Formats: sequence, C-alpha cells, structure tokens
Amino acid sequence: MFSVFSRWWPRRSPSSPQISADLWDAVWRSLPFLHWMSPTEQALLRERSRELLGLKQINGAAGLVLNDHIRLSIALQAALPILHRGCEAYRNWAEIVVYPGDFIIPRQEVDENGVVHEYEETLLGEAWIEGPVLVAWFEPEDGDRPEGINVLIHEFVHTLDMGNGKVDGVPTLPAEISYKEWQTTFAAAFTDFAQRLEADPGWAEESPLDPYGAENPGEFLAVMSEHFFETPAALARLYPDVYRLLARYFGLDPLGPSSPGASQP
Ligand SMILES: [Zn+2]
Repeated sequence: MFSVFSRWWPRRSPSSPQISADLWDAVWRSLPFLHWMSPTEQALLRERSRELLGLKQINGAAGLVLNDHIRLSIALQAALPILHRGCEAYRNWAEIVVYPGDFIIPRQEVDENGVVHEYEETLLGEAWIEGPVLVAWFEPEDGDRPEGINVLIHEFVHTLDMGNGKVDGVPTLPAEISYKEWQTTFAAAFTDFAQRLEADPGWAEESPLDPYGAENPGEFLAVMSEHFFETPAALARLYPDVYRLLARYFGLDPLGPSSPGASQP
C-alpha cells in the first residue's frame, strides 16, 4: 500500500518543489542584474522562489506554454520584493497569469449618460487586489527589452502597495520605517519627477527613469522599484532618498558599499 501512496502523494502535496542545481544556475545566469547579491541572499532567494512555486499557480495564457525555466524565473523575480518579508506579504492572491509578450484586455466603461463604451487596452501587466497578477513574459536576454524595465517586479510591487486596499504608493511598512518618512520622501521625489517632465517634455527621452512613473504615486513606487533592482545607480543618482528608503524596505542594497545607503549610520 505504501508504494501506491508514495506515487501519488508527492504530487498532491502542497509542499514546495525542489529546484535542481542545474535549473537554478541556468535561471540565475539569465538574470545578470542580480549578480551583486551575496551568497546568503542568493540562498534565501532560492528558498523564497521554491516557496512561491509551491504556493502560487503560474499559468500560461494566449498559447504560452510554460516550462520550468520560465516558472522559476517568474517565481524568482516575484521573490525579490518579499525576500526578507516572506510569502505572507502576497497572501491576497494565488495566481500569476503569463502572456507571451504584451496582451490585449477588452474593457467596458459606462459614461455619465449610461452609455456603455467598449474598447481594448494593450498591457504589459496588471495586478488585481485579490489576484490574479497578469504579466507579459519576455526572455531576459531579449535585446528589445528597454533598460530598467521589469514588468514582473512592477506588478508584484503593486500587489504589495494594495495592502491597504489602494494603489497609492504606500505599502504596508515594516515597524522600522515610519509612514510619515515614506510619504514625505516619495511625495517629494514624485512631485520633482512630474515637474521635470512637465517643464521639459524632451527630458522624457533622456531620463534614465521611466516617465511612466509620473502617472501617479502608485506607478511611481512600482517604476522606482523596477529601477532599484535593474538600474540602481540611475535611481540613486536622481533620488538618493528614494533609493535609501527602498533599500531599507526591501532589506537589499544592489549598489553595495558604493550606495548612498552605505554611508548611513
Ligand atoms: Zn503599474
């Protein structure tokens, strides 16, 4: 009897799957923007990725067939913002839906006259309070991928931001960061960023930070989090206070000893 159980039990078990060394190495190599991580951080990232693979469903859409490499790459990048906080921070949602590149979502809107307008929107990602998280998948090596852009980090940070029911740029903060400090720091940087873009629309072309961050405070947090991981030096140069605060929030410091966070007591 035991042998019968042992054949199906592992598949039905909610416990997280093991990640083979080969698979981990291949996915890790494909994400060079993370290669500043210490061996301890990398080990924790691997454990967090493993937990997420067990806890969340990752499903392909629009014909995308997921393989273990894609699943792990998505779980790994989802694990970045919650590396030290734990998977509990993602408790409100259970599913990640992955599209092969950008995707079209049909929308409906009722105007003040009660007329229903139908239209389509092309998206790279979308997060709902209770899930799912929709993301476009691009091969990390894809040369067309603009620098500093990371749809995965963007959407997963939105889900953290939704902790208070709103996408307002204020996630649930750990005890060591005050809401006042967070709001003051982010409001100042957001206002500055929006004003710069307004004063010089040409700057949008040259800005090392994605102008989409100027949409609203929720997008600003998501976009600056992308830059924190993907192009940390650019973020630290323009908004060192935001870099420092995100370093404390994520418990990570991509710039290491040269970062503006390192000089802090
Ligand atoms: Zn967004």
